[in-house]
Amino acid sequence: MVLPLEPLGYSVVGIYISMHLMSCQRIRVVRRADGYYAQFCIDVERTEEYIPTGKVIGIDVGLNHFYTDSDGDTVPNPRHLRKSEKALKRAQKRVSRKKKGSSNRKKAINKLGRRHLKVSRQRKDFAIKTALCVVKSSDFIAYEDLQVKNMVKNHKLAKSISDAAWSQFAQWLEYFGKVYGKTVVAVAPQYTSQDCSTCGNSVKKTLSTRTHICSCGTVLDRDHNAALNILAKGLKARAGINLNTVGHTEINAWGQTDLYSLVVTSTGKPTD
Ligand SMILES: [Zn+2]
Repeated sequence: MVLPLEPLGYSVVGIYISMHLMSCQRIRVVRRADGYYAQFCIDVERTEEYIPTGKVIGIDVGLNHFYTDSDGDTVPNPRHLRKSEKALKRAQKRVSRKKKGSSNRKKAINKLGRRHLKVSRQRKDFAIKTALCVVKSSDFIAYEDLQVKNMVKNHKLAKSISDAAWSQFAQWLEYFGKVYGKTVVAVAPQYTSQDCSTCGNSVKKTLSTRTHICSCGTVLDRDHNAALNILAKGLKARAGINLNTVGHTEINAWGQTDLYSLVVTSTGKPTD
């Protein structure tokens, strides 16, 4: 919990402290580019009612869309982050143009700091809202373990913003999973984009190949195919359900709800 000190005034902070005096373990005053903040470290276990939705989902993150899920639905990249990225570049240039040690440079540095702060707040807000939406609408969530994802190393700002947004999104998925009693699984991303989600055959693709076309007749958007593989991997790892053994045609015939009851039986989660 972060409260701005100055705009709220000390009385509000005082009320807040007395409200949580019993559980507040630590107060930290931190300085940000736009002012001072008091952080209250509170030890509270947050749990929400478990409401089953009967839905299982696999999530593939990417640069074209923020993510594509195993139903083929996509969430676009947040446009405000792209805008902020441009503003960041401008602010950075302004700093480098100013004379070292000048007060104008100090001002420009502060502006750059505020810009960075804005981007990080927007990113956090987007990650929280998107993750909460996913957790609330599914019971079983499988996503790529981004720490082991072999990311192309480059210094492009757009890429670093996306990377940061993805890792925050994953953190909030895990957090909300615990709060809402949903199963959240991180799976190794190896082969998820190359393998066919229907027959398991490897279909080699370059980064620019956007469609997965397999000799078995499967034609899917590249990311949709990857999301299906991620879901299959997650189900196998956590619930012991092997989609390859069961067969996709049967899964499709059963529909989501039956797949969900399989998950419930395997993970021992309550259905009501
Ligand atoms: Zn195939």
